Amino acid sequence: MDQQPSSLTTPLERLPGVGTARAQRLRALELVTVRDAIVHFPRAYRDFSGAHAFAELVEGEHASVAGTVADVRQRTTAHGRSMLTVLVDGQGGSVRGVWFNMPFMAKKFAVGATVVFAGVPKRAGATWEMSHPEVRLCAAGEDPVRGEYLAVYPGAEGVRQSDVRLAVQAALAHAGEMLEEAFPEEWLAAKGLMPIREAMHEIHAPASLEKKDAATRRLVYQELFMLQLALRLHRAQQEDRKAAAAMVVDTRLDGRIRARLPFTLTPDQDAVIAEISADLAKAEPMNRLLQGDVGSGKTVVALYAMLAAVGCGHQAALMAPTELLARQHFATLEHLLVNGRVNLELLVGGQTQAQRRKALERIAAGESQIVIGTQALVSGAVPFKSLGLVVIDEQQRFGVIQRATLQEGQAEPHVLVMTATPIPRTVAHALHGDLDYSVIEHGPAGRQPVRTYRVVPDQEASWWEHVRKKLREGRQGYVVVPAIEDSKRGLATIASAFEELANGPLEAFRLSLVHGRLKTAEKQAIMDDFRDGKLDVLVCTSVIEVGIDVPNATVMAILDAESFGLSQLHQLRGRVARGAVAGICGAVTPSGTEPLPRVDAFVASTDGFELARKDFELRGAGNLVGTRQSGDDGLLVADLIKNESVMTEARADAHEFFARDPALADPAHARLKKVILGRWGSTLGLGGVG
Ligand code: ADP
Ligand code: MG
Repeated sequence: MDQQPSSLTTPLERLPGVGTARAQRLRALELVTVRDAIVHFPRAYRDFSGAHAFAELVEGEHASVAGTVADVRQRTTAHGRSMLTVLVDGQGGSVRGVWFNMPFMAKKFAVGATVVFAGVPKRAGATWEMSHPEVRLCAAGEDPVRGEYLAVYPGAEGVRQSDVRLAVQAALAHAGEMLEEAFPEEWLAAKGLMPIREAMHEIHAPASLEKKDAATRRLVYQELFMLQLALRLHRAQQEDRKAAAAMVVDTRLDGRIRARLPFTLTPDQDAVIAEISADLAKAEPMNRLLQGDVGSGKTVVALYAMLAAVGCGHQAALMAPTELLARQHFATLEHLLVNGRVNLELLVGGQTQAQRRKALERIAAGESQIVIGTQALVSGAVPFKSLGLVVIDEQQRFGVIQRATLQEGQAEPHVLVMTATPIPRTVAHALHGDLDYSVIEHGPAGRQPVRTYRVVPDQEASWWEHVRKKLREGRQGYVVVPAIEDSKRGLATIASAFEELANGPLEAFRLSLVHGRLKTAEKQAIMDDFRDGKLDVLVCTSVIEVGIDVPNATVMAILDAESFGLSQLHQLRGRVARGAVAGICGAVTPSGTEPLPRVDAFVASTDGFELARKDFELRGAGNLVGTRQSGDDGLLVADLIKNESVMTEARADAHEFFARDPALADPAHARLKKVILGRWGSTLGLGGVG
């Protein structure tokens, strides 16, 4: 057969049955090519096996049952809605499927046909009822009970599950046979790993739960093995390079740095700083992950480390994942370092060529000692005079580090990665290689959890009354409005929210509006007024998500809370957990009854760790690891956490593999080498291999 690897790059719209419109919708999930679809892994599976006995059904628990259609009935309810009822008799019981406003469904069912209903059963007298169940129609003579599990994919707005399923199946039919096996056959056998083609089929359409687990294990193993090996190769290359600059923080320097900070450090911060100082003093590069919940005080620790580098005559770089974050870090540090001798430099996209050139000159001359910017900009070719430390602020994203590329002959910088995403140590190891690990468990003393409510339409009046009471007591607050920054529509949304509040519930207070369209200076002026207490309420977009820091602001309302991500909600709430007074936060939602999983989880917990886990569950795997921007597919993170033993095994195997074939020179490893370079070569700069 003609094996064209380019089939994996075929656009989805060219596949039979996908079509232009569907392909267009799938772009919202970044699914463009056959390959994208194949590695878009399900986040869950719906049992569609038809194997549940009626006697086993539990009210409220998803199940699938099989039977024969006994009756199909269509009527109009008192409210004028159409209602379709289909009665299915199975062994030992019966179930009624009910659909509203879907009259066309009736055509599907013929009395006497065999069907499977999958859904959530509810007792209805002697029978069961399922509202809008999913349906599998069985062909004549087909056994309704068979292993069938329907994949549920991470979604996006405007994309149907059926779009994704169809595209994935079309992609597998088109190119599934061309997937190349990376591991030698003996290896698969020895490790009990499912071959890649089978694994890809089973992960998308498993014949049984056992097969699904085996497929997951295989894919997780491969992902981790490749990453571990890549990190090992990367380290081997680094070891050939120059060592890091040893930076010793003596008591004088320590005292000078502490004197710059506006508060005494907490015991946790002190402990972490001691770990960092010990690393910096060595001539080998630090590689440390600092984890702590939003507001636990990581930024100050980073500042300490950067001032230590500067105090020892080197430069430090702080990389933020977005430009906005970079700007906010810049503002925070500027504020903390005012009247000092340390020069800050901001490197972001919005600058002119001339501004950037001047900035680079100051950096090259060593005049700018702390450089703050986005990852892309700082990790590009910035001519540091002597870069001693790189701090990477990942916030919620958790990805494989985009390492700074330095000129030949320069010492390696020390690296500190900060993350607010609490990920188990084992997973952190898997993603970042052999890094050291520091945690801030407890934030500054006296912090109280933010009381959080879901505010449904009925309760809005009393919610705003509560807000007014707090404001009259002298507190300040934020009203957060979802808006796509810099879009006309977003601006309209926030402006009209502002009008409504200013002429309605918050009429008596001093309000201002901050959004992405304002010039930096205007924005800064408003923020300053707010900080100085000249404003009571800021109506804003998620501009304030990070960075803003006003301890007297203890009230937050988040409008249309359901349109925010769970970690984003948690980040936002962090803004009103800053002082000694307990904050309150209202997640305002337009509907009162339907469950909103993200909002409900947010209201139920203020524990960042718990919320992160919940977020994994809700969002599924693919997008969690921030490697998408470099063209990689995601890791199966949710599965990583469940598969710790696979992780340990893959890591040990990768290290053993490296010991045996450090240059990946064995011809039997050619495909493995190709896979690993394709996956991680550019991210980790593995140019030297092969
Ligand atoms: P993170 O970066 O972990 O989200 P920050 O470093 O921004 O947290 O700190 C959160 C807030 O706590 C800020 O207002 C900061 O000024 C304050 N803070 C940090 N450390 C201390 C401390 N030791 N004592 C009092 N306040 C602190
Ligand atoms: Mg921070």
